[in-house]
Amino acid sequence: MKKLMAANWKMYKTQREAKETIRELISLINDNMPSEREILIFPPFTSLDVVCNEIKEIEYIHAGAQNFYPAIEGAYTGEISPKMLLDVGCEYALVGHSERRHIFLEQDDLLAKKAHFGIDSGLKIIFCVGEKLEERKAGKVEDVLKEQLKQGLKKIKDVSSPEKVLNIAYEPVWAIGTGEVAGEKEISEAHAIIRKELRSMFGTQANNIRILYGGSVKPENADSIISIDNVDGVLVGGASLSAKSFSKIIFA
Ligand code: PEP
Repeated sequence: MKKLMAANWKMYKTQREAKETIRELISLINDNMPSEREILIFPPFTSLDVVCNEIKEIEYIHAGAQNFYPAIEGAYTGEISPKMLLDVGCEYALVGHSERRHIFLEQDDLLAKKAHFGIDSGLKIIFCVGEKLEERKAGKVEDVLKEQLKQGLKKIKDVSSPEKVLNIAYEPVWAIGTGEVAGEKEISEAHAIIRKELRSMFGTQANNIRILYGGSVKPENADSIISIDNVDGVLVGGASLSAKSFSKIIFA
């Protein structure tokens, strides 16, 4: 499985800025893309089309949506459907990002619907899990991660084919956008818990699921994070906004 180097641009970048960043990134990679890695960009909705157009001839870069609503179409003011995302060339989508869970109060039931509907519609899903600081301090990491996986993925039965693709991102809430990075031991333990739970849910199909780490990944720490056992990629927020810094992470 190729390592997935994912950039979450959150609510940053106009169309012009998105185009400049993706062009700069492609020129920095300059045909030297490591064959065992691939890139995924999550622009804001308004720049998805621009990014998809820039990358359509490049097989190692993919685009994803930061959010969607689990319906084909309908009276859901302000929402975007998987069908619309696939239509602009978007292949992936995030579900369960901690900012969606905590700022927009998305609950397990909605996340389960999104994960299932997204995969069924042909989107590749990155399902995010992670504990809060108080949960870590209370020794609840394993319980929290298992519960988030059990609840969020309960409607998904098949992750075995190239059309039904699930990835997990382990993103400890206390490490997102804080500059605080989980240590090697914490990452390795959490990823092992996730892998074990995925095996108990999906059997051998769990081997097809990549587990990414996210939380203050930067050029300075990407090298050691990407070499940790069971880390199949990274999900990068702040440090992915600059093409220079994200390209260093891609080459880490
Ligand atoms: C994220 O948005 O998923 C993330 C990990 O952000 P940051 O890298 O800024 O911590």
